Amino acid sequence: MEDSALLALWDDCAALPGRSRAHRLAAFGADGDVRERALGHWQAGLATAWRRVGGGPLEAVVDCPACAAELQVTVPADVLPTTGPPAGTTAVEWRGEVVELHLPTARDVDDASGSAQRLLAACTAARPDGSQPTEAVAEALQRADPAALPALELSCPECGCGFEEVVDLAAFVWAVVQHRAHAALAQVATLAAAYGWGEAEILALPPGRRAAYERLVPS
Ligand SMILES: [Zn+2]
Repeated sequence: MEDSALLALWDDCAALPGRSRAHRLAAFGADGDVRERALGHWQAGLATAWRRVGGGPLEAVVDCPACAAELQVTVPADVLPTTGPPAGTTAVEWRGEVVELHLPTARDVDDASGSAQRLLAACTAARPDGSQPTEAVAEALQRADPAALPALELSCPECGCGFEEVVDLAAFVWAVVQHRAHAALAQVATLAAAYGWGEAEILALPPGRRAAYERLVPS
């Protein structure tokens, strides 16, 4: 992805609050708004955005929930989701009855405001007796849309505890966009000051030539 396009994406996202920024980055990767599609499509959009902005393996430091040891985690980019599930509903058997489920979308997640109960309720029609087949629903949704919640199965080398860590792809993508944007702006500032060129002229140069001119600037 060229720096001029990356800076345009950075401009679009910088003023947005976190969740809106995540939607914008997912739409960039998916080439369109994916808020109304099953969540796996939204995550796949973010994974494509990650590849487009040049993200390599995902590297993170995760705290063990049992002993608080810090784990260095590296995830190859090719294990990230590439697509979501086909359109339609899924079903789960609950107390001898078949219950139709609606796969949650990114908008459902926003509306649930962090409440897993409210999110599950959005995926099933109201039950005559008011009951919610919560556990069965959660498992059926996970099977129907495995990309919805990219998670890593981790094991702590210090205490042996096994745990799951959800990957916040939007945060990874935004960190790379910011890093590349700041580097490009610093390079433009250096070359503009040294040679009197404008931003558009500088960004139109191939990256290798820009770097070569930067090395020729007297320090
Ligand atoms: Zn541990």
